[in-house]
Amino acid sequence: MAGILFLGWILLAALGLTIMLAKGRTSCGLIILILLIPIVGLVVAVVISPDPEREKAKALRKGDAVECPACFSLIDPRASVCPNCRAEITTGLDMRGNKIRQANIPS
Ligand SMILES: [Zn+2]
Repeated sequence: MAGILFLGWILLAALGLTIMLAKGRTSCGLIILILLIPIVGLVVAVVISPDPEREKAKALRKGDAVECPACFSLIDPRASVCPNCRAEITTGLDMRGNKIRQANIPS
């Protein structure tokens, strides 16, 4: 009986830690919670939102989004106006021929 409880504890903790790592959340508090009370830690790991900086880096890497040159929020690569700061986005080429985005901030 104790072996089954221990195995369940290990499995729940492993699942909680896996979900936590997949979401990019690596706080000591959450790790301790998952290890000490795996069922509560698992629920917290499922409910907690993914790390916003990690999600931002992932979207930029995949090309699903670009940073607004004015406010640095994520926007659609085809957007001509930033939905966050209302800056007009224009694209052009720099001196080396690289594509760049510029913002004209409304006054
Ligand atoms: Zn913006």
